[in-house]
Amino acid sequence: MFGIWGHPDATRMTYYGLHSLQHRGQEGVGIVTTDGERLQGIKGEGLLNEVFDEKKLDSLKGIGAIGHVRYGGKKGIENIQPLLFHSSSGSLALAQNGNLINANDLKHQLEMQGSIFQTNTDTEVLAHLIKRSGYLAQEDKVKNALSMVKGAYSFMMLTEKELIIAQDPNGLRPLSIGKVGDAYCVAAETCAYDLIGAEYIRDVEPGELIIIDRDGIHEERFSLSATHAMCTMEYVYFSRPDSDIGGINIHTARKNLGKQLALEVNVQGDVVTGVPDSSISAAIGFAETAGIPYELGLIKNRYVGRTFIKPTQELREQGVKMKLSPVRKVVEGKRVIMVDDSIVRGTTSKRIVRMLKQAGAKEVHVCISSPPMTNPCFYGIDVSTHEELIAANHSMEEIREIIEADSLTFLSVEGMLKAIGRSENMGKNCGQCMACFTGEYPTEIYPDTPLPYEK
Ligand code: 5GP
Ligand code: SF4
Ligand code: MG
Repeated sequence: MFGIWGHPDATRMTYYGLHSLQHRGQEGVGIVTTDGERLQGIKGEGLLNEVFDEKKLDSLKGIGAIGHVRYGGKKGIENIQPLLFHSSSGSLALAQNGNLINANDLKHQLEMQGSIFQTNTDTEVLAHLIKRSGYLAQEDKVKNALSMVKGAYSFMMLTEKELIIAQDPNGLRPLSIGKVGDAYCVAAETCAYDLIGAEYIRDVEPGELIIIDRDGIHEERFSLSATHAMCTMEYVYFSRPDSDIGGINIHTARKNLGKQLALEVNVQGDVVTGVPDSSISAAIGFAETAGIPYELGLIKNRYVGRTFIKPTQELREQGVKMKLSPVRKVVEGKRVIMVDDSIVRGTTSKRIVRMLKQAGAKEVHVCISSPPMTNPCFYGIDVSTHEELIAANHSMEEIREIIEADSLTFLSVEGMLKAIGRSENMGKNCGQCMACFTGEYPTEIYPDTPLPYEK
């Protein structure tokens, strides 16, 4: 998500902001703008540059805008955000990153009371709650609606008159504020600021609600019972290496994860290689600490999207093949230490071990810079269902056999916390969510809590 208020070319700023955030979702994209009088939006399935061209950008006039790239989730153009609702009492556009864990329940209640839904996305539930709230002031409507939803959500709302943003009371997904000239901007990741020449100001706090309008920025709270439970996978895999979360640079965190892994592991190898792009930082750290040369054992074809995000297993497997190739001269006859950031279903590791062996590697030792994932994520990251998680259903030795590796090592939970390096003052687990590794969810989970991604 990216949003901006008070800029003469809010549309293009949002386009460039989203360009930096494209890694967070490739299935659809939308931008809604306001010129102060009305809201206008364009959205479509695919990548940013497939959906928008100069003509479309020119047609969206704005001093304020919000944009969103979609990751996984329900298919269909209607489910692409921002959702835009026109109304004589004031229009609004909404975008949300995360997953509302009580969305099914709320939707059921709203439908019983006569609401009709046009989409399958949980974001529409929020729209209904906001519109139905009896409060007069826009921010009170939003506060009231947010007090009813539970789960992970970084939230943005655009009206003709203001941009409102909020962060869930557990702060599960990253969200920060920046400034470019006189305009304020908000982004899911700080890497968006560099491209548009904005200055990072600060992260949005859990439970915080911020209104940006012609009078400037107003900082409020909608929840006082806030804790920090930032998604650990943002550090491990999801965010871009040039972003910072909680003041910690992602590349540095990953490199430290690799260093810690090298201290914990007990294998001999001739070369260390990463799996482009997500585990390169960890592999560099590993090699540095282990004193083994880092080599480019695998290269990536840039013209294929992220394999994991492809919705079916078949497409995912084909994606891995199209995406990565071994560098034969680097791995031939060598004991290769292959560092990857995570094993979810095991698809990637298995393919790569085979690929390296076919290219002549003598041994392949798989080292993973995060602990085994044994629990599903209900907060918007597709680490799959319990049934599909390989570590939830197999012993370490069985996984090693399945992926055909000579050895397999995962980073410890304690090692991971230490390596990322957030302060213990941030709260439990240094203010991180670790649920997919430990099963301890920072929010309640209901029997009908939906997994946000479609299989
Ligand atoms: P697997 O192939 O084991 O199912 O997934 C692990 C691979 O997918 C790793 O190479 C990792 O970089 C990537 N990955 C891990 N977690 C996620 C995630 O939550 N989302 C996406 N899109 N990719 C992931
Ligand atoms: Fe992130 Fe895992 Fe928590 Fe989901 S369960 S928010 S992937 S740490
Ligand atoms: Mg990867």
